[in-house]
Amino acid sequence: MTIVAIDGPAGAGKSSAALRLAERLGYTLIDTGALYRAVALAAREQGVSWEDGEALGALASSLELRFGPVTGGRPPLLIDGVDRSDDIRAPEISQGASQVSAHPPVRAALLEVQRRMGRQGDVVLEGRDIGTVVFPDADVKVFLTASVEARARRRYDELKGRDGDADLDEVRREMETRDQRDSTRAVAPLKPADDAVRLDSSGLDLDGVLAKLEALVRERLPRPGAR
Ligand code: C5P
Repeated sequence: MTIVAIDGPAGAGKSSAALRLAERLGYTLIDTGALYRAVALAAREQGVSWEDGEALGALASSLELRFGPVTGGRPPLLIDGVDRSDDIRAPEISQGASQVSAHPPVRAALLEVQRRMGRQGDVVLEGRDIGTVVFPDADVKVFLTASVEARARRRYDELKGRDGDADLDEVRREMETRDQRDSTRAVAPLKPADDAVRLDSSGLDLDGVLAKLEALVRERLPRPGAR
């Protein structure tokens, strides 16, 4: 069982890089942000406030969360058996995920889910606290970051590609709000693990980030997946 942890703020390029890295290594990708998004979405639909930590924790424990088989691209997220991959990507759910993730009962419930998923085999986990809290003994830890300008521009291009409608200043403001909340929360704040390798993706395209990640993994794990 080999664990590669990729943490970092929104828009640093984690999702695409983690997905491609997992494909190259033949590992399973676990997108942990999708789990927090699922809790925010389910809360919205069931009338649970994003402020109510206890109720959110109970909700998080009651949901059946799993990733479906990959059919090209990111593994689909199933909530109670239903594919909600598109619904969890709505911008208000990004903010909701950041709000619900600050509550300790939610983090405790999802910690178990993430550890169970991570123990399934060779995995790349992508998130905010994988190297610090979820798997502090991960074989490889990367903290992927980039300037706020580069991150906002990336997220803007992504949203534009999807809906054809986005405002760069608004995307940047929302990203700064989310970064601030994620970095200052009391439990498991966004920060690099002491032994994480920091990688700044500001001037790199996806292939550039991937090349650096792959070189790092192969240096740390001479035969990835063969242990
Ligand atoms: O990575 P993504 O943007 O999908 O994550 C959504 C939100 O979930 C983040 O802003 C963060 O608040 C939260 N999150 C977290 N810990 C993780 C992954 C995501 O707190 N490991």
